[in-house]
Amino acid sequence: MHDRKPALVTGGAGFLGSFLCERLLREGHDVICADNYFTGSRENIQHLLDDPHFEFIRHDVTFPLYLEVDEIYNLACPASPVHYQFDPVQTVKTNVHGAINMLGLAKRTGARIFQASTSEVYGDPAVHPQTESYRGSVNPIGPRACYDEGKRCAETLFFDYHRQYGVDIRVARIFNTYGPRMHPDDGRVVSNFIVQALRNEPITIFGDGSQTRSFCYVDDLIEGFIRLMAAPDDVTGPINLGNPAEFEVRQLAEMVVAMIGSRSPIVYKPLPTDDPTRRKPDITRATQQLGWQPTVPLHEGLARTIAYFDKKLSSAVVDMRW
Ligand code: NAD
Ligand code: UDP
Ligand code: UDP
Repeated sequence: MHDRKPALVTGGAGFLGSFLCERLLREGHDVICADNYFTGSRENIQHLLDDPHFEFIRHDVTFPLYLEVDEIYNLACPASPVHYQFDPVQTVKTNVHGAINMLGLAKRTGARIFQASTSEVYGDPAVHPQTESYRGSVNPIGPRACYDEGKRCAETLFFDYHRQYGVDIRVARIFNTYGPRMHPDDGRVVSNFIVQALRNEPITIFGDGSQTRSFCYVDDLIEGFIRLMAAPDDVTGPINLGNPAEFEVRQLAEMVVAMIGSRSPIVYKPLPTDDPTRRKPDITRATQQLGWQPTVPLHEGLARTIAYFDKKLSSAVVDMRW
């Protein structure tokens, strides 16, 4: 049976990657998931391992990979500041060498290749909401640069491989996305607040909480990936994918505490260096070119994510007792 199109998902054992693998299997692909388990886990893909159309390879994308595939989704890279700043040099290598290797693979096989870029390419933005034509304001030597500049360089490589070798590219600029299967210690704001609130531990707001983010539920985002990959040949991106509903971090904390009925106090911690003050996608391009827009409002997405963590944390308590 060779009519199923093989798709490679790098970073497939991570939060977004595991949902993408699931979705691609449902769409009838053979899926090869390549991941070095830096921030991903076997648990995220456990339910896929028995599927004959799913294959896992433990692989670091900074090294070459020779496979025959029709589509490549390049997601490999830690996404949470805590994790991408743990080994910044490896983060740059993952973004740059990883992109070169995956583009080399796409060039040799003729595969269409998707890049998980980020709203971080806009840095601390002077334009609000952010349109794809805005070139960004990134500190190239700060602690976030390994990620931001790594992702910017990856975009450069994607467009150079496209212009120079005709590689068929799709670049998505992803804004903050959340949902079930985030790691409890992931470090990003939604999972932190939910886990803290469920444990009745202090909610850690960095800065005064007036900075804003726009939070997209994972299912909406994955739909955007699929549509971008299926779009006509001339659609390369970059294209913003995110939920334009903008919230202050403080508002998010209040919502989470109220929804959980938590006794958590709110504590204020220093704002990390170069933390962007506001972020909101302009999704006109995604709406016009992909017919895409998010459908899950924050309240509903949070309810689903809280239910997931509630179950996960209670089973962890049971495990510890045993
Ligand atoms: P995640 O940390 O859960 O997943 C990243 C995955 O990549 C993990 O499974 C990790 O083990 C793997 N990985 C890291 N370095 C690797 C390497 N050198 N070789 C192979 N695998 C490696 O993060 P996520 O939220 O699922 O993000 C996935 C992608 O989407 C990342 O590229 C991230 O930059 C991008 N992105 C995510 C968001 C978001 O809000 N979730 C926003 C913007 C961009
Ligand atoms: N590469 C890979 N898999 C392939 C083809 C290439 O991992 O199927 C890697 C290879 O390591 C190479 C990189 O992608 O260094 C870039 O490939 P390209 O063809 O652009 O460059 P070259 O091979 O000429 O260095
Ligand atoms: N943040 C916070 N408390 C936390 C974690 C994060 O106040 O426990 C803030 C962080 O400073 C940033 C926003 O929440 O302003 C989003 O942080 P996250 O790490 O989720 O993503 P970022 O958009 O910074 O990459």
